Amino acid sequence: MTTPHELYELLKAYDPHVNESLIVAAYDFTVRAHGAQLRASGAPYYLHPLEVAKILIDYKLDVQSIITGLLHDTVEDTVATIEEITELFGPEVAALVEGVTKLSRLEIQSEHLKQAENLRKLVVAMSTDIRVLLVKLADRLHNMRTIQFVPLEKRMRIARETKEIYVPLAERIGMQNMKDELEDHAFSVLNPQAHESISQRLSHLYESNGTTVDTIIKDLLIVFNKESLPADINGRKKTPSSIWRKMQNKNIAFEQLADIMAFRIIVDTLAQCYEALGIIHSHYPVIPGRFKDFISTPKPNNYKSLHTVVIGPLNHRIEIQIRTRDMHMVNEYGVAAHWHYKQGGEASTDGRQYAWLRGLMDILEQTATPEEFLEHTKLEMFQDQVFCFTPKSDLIALPRGACVIDFAYALHSAIGNQTVSAKINGKLAPLRTILSNGDQIEIQTSKSQHPSPEWERFVITGKARAQIRRFIRQSKRQQFSELGKNLLMKCFRHEHVEYCEKTIQTAVEHYHFTCSEDLFVSIAEGYHAAKDVFLYCHPHTKPKATPTSDVPVIKKKSGDKVSLSINGLIPGMAIHMSGCCHPLPGDRIVGLIITGRGISIHTYDCDHLQDVDNADRLLDISWGHLSGPERAQHHYVGRIKVTFVNKPGSLASMTGAISKQAGNIMNLKVTNRTTDFWDLLVDVEVQDAQHLSHIIAALRTVPIMVSADRG
Ligand code: MN
Repeated sequence: MTTPHELYELLKAYDPHVNESLIVAAYDFTVRAHGAQLRASGAPYYLHPLEVAKILIDYKLDVQSIITGLLHDTVEDTVATIEEITELFGPEVAALVEGVTKLSRLEIQSEHLKQAENLRKLVVAMSTDIRVLLVKLADRLHNMRTIQFVPLEKRMRIARETKEIYVPLAERIGMQNMKDELEDHAFSVLNPQAHESISQRLSHLYESNGTTVDTIIKDLLIVFNKESLPADINGRKKTPSSIWRKMQNKNIAFEQLADIMAFRIIVDTLAQCYEALGIIHSHYPVIPGRFKDFISTPKPNNYKSLHTVVIGPLNHRIEIQIRTRDMHMVNEYGVAAHWHYKQGGEASTDGRQYAWLRGLMDILEQTATPEEFLEHTKLEMFQDQVFCFTPKSDLIALPRGACVIDFAYALHSAIGNQTVSAKINGKLAPLRTILSNGDQIEIQTSKSQHPSPEWERFVITGKARAQIRRFIRQSKRQQFSELGKNLLMKCFRHEHVEYCEKTIQTAVEHYHFTCSEDLFVSIAEGYHAAKDVFLYCHPHTKPKATPTSDVPVIKKKSGDKVSLSINGLIPGMAIHMSGCCHPLPGDRIVGLIITGRGISIHTYDCDHLQDVDNADRLLDISWGHLSGPERAQHHYVGRIKVTFVNKPGSLASMTGAISKQAGNIMNLKVTNRTTDFWDLLVDVEVQDAQHLSHIIAALRTVPIMVSADRG
């Protein structure tokens, strides 16, 4: 087992400023935290973080990353907290550990892996500091190295996740070695027979060709010596997974794979790369179509090399890769190499780290080929996105700042339109709640729910906004049209003339409308009087005196044949409850047509009605007969004027009395407060006038109450 001092020595080899006591402290912390926990293999758990730290040291990462590697499982799996880590190792390490912990939780949540691409984006988005991703990759690498101890089903899942999420990520940031090893472990789990068969044939090939490889290297070296070009040449083993991939892509047999034997020629300068290529091509027959110049056109992950296939020494088809030492470092270590390089060049510890991060940005900002999963995107772009889950762990990507309603509309417009409430990570949350990365959202819908115009104020996605507007526009039109038609039919009934669509059609043309709906809307909006339309249709009818010539005349019994019912009309669109008298179901009501806005509903004795000069604008309206659950869904606001004694607790006993009667207080307004009394206006959500009377009666029984009346 590696001791803390050995770990320190490994780290010191490339970072002489490293503080040994810090490494010892992190080592002790993780050993203590994991205590007697065991790995699936039966080994002490703390060996795992230790191995992860060593992998990170192999990549010559900075001391914060190494400490994060040591601590990475303590918050998720033990009683250790982020606060402790902040205190002992500083906020930077704490933020890194927190990042890795979040990624681990994400894996547990997203077992279905339906959207690997989105998950990869999520992993990148959550790795706000790229070191989080590097530690996570090292963690995954060690887990894959020891995966044989994990039960089969879980082993398959982890291998699939590795193949679909982490292998492409490692490749994307240019960590070739990491990618190769992860990919090969995953391949051996997912496809054990193929892996076994290719491995056997490979080792057979290398054994039987053991001398062949050496001979080829020797021959190549002789050629380069003769041309006086100093070069390092080595044979390179391919991994079974990369051979398997080639066999599948190119649909050829094992024996035909030219590049099972690959050789690397490493030179000092860029010019020497092309010189070396010239030497190879002039000494050996070239296989056409296999030459690639990744130096003039590097791969998106910054991979630079020349590739060619020739019939080389001993008449073997061989692949040759030519590159400089610097290119080789970047090719093998990817972003890690960037940090490694900058380290030598810059004195300040901060400077070198940021230079390294900038290096990563440069890599990621290069335009990607269509096959690349980060197609036409940059790391920063993901910072503008937030990734959330459905209860079934499907991933939904939304712009940052999106709320629950945006999420609901992203699922489906029908879901958005019927959203009632939502749970975020199992807790009930307001619909306007802004979502964060990794949130799991459960939307509750109801068929009777519909979008509220209010929603438009807090949604940020175009889809949600367009859907809400469309719904409101449509239902407004539908309501106005229904209301207008009702007004016109009422006129016909009043004159005892049978209503007939055909006659209406002549009026539609006369008023230059394209359809009868437009005519109805215009009547409801008050631009045309229903009576005028009726008279146009039946010019010879002498209109009866309007029954609503003054207020007393309209004091009819509700339920009268010619009264309009507001059944089914949603208040707030074509009809509005007036704010002056707060009419409630059960009250006798009158409608007042307001040009362009529809109808506002008043109680029949409302003072406002006295000022109305044109009796044609007044309508007899009834509440209709909502009942049962339909009734319960409609809420109206009633206003109560209360006066009570000013002493401690009196406000509480007043509100208590209201809530005991199932009244929901919408608004409280203090109109007067003296040393002796409170005067308040209370707006309460109620079902009807009777409900409000119950509340008022209950208020009157409260001992501190002086008076309670409808306001
Ligand atoms: Mn781990």
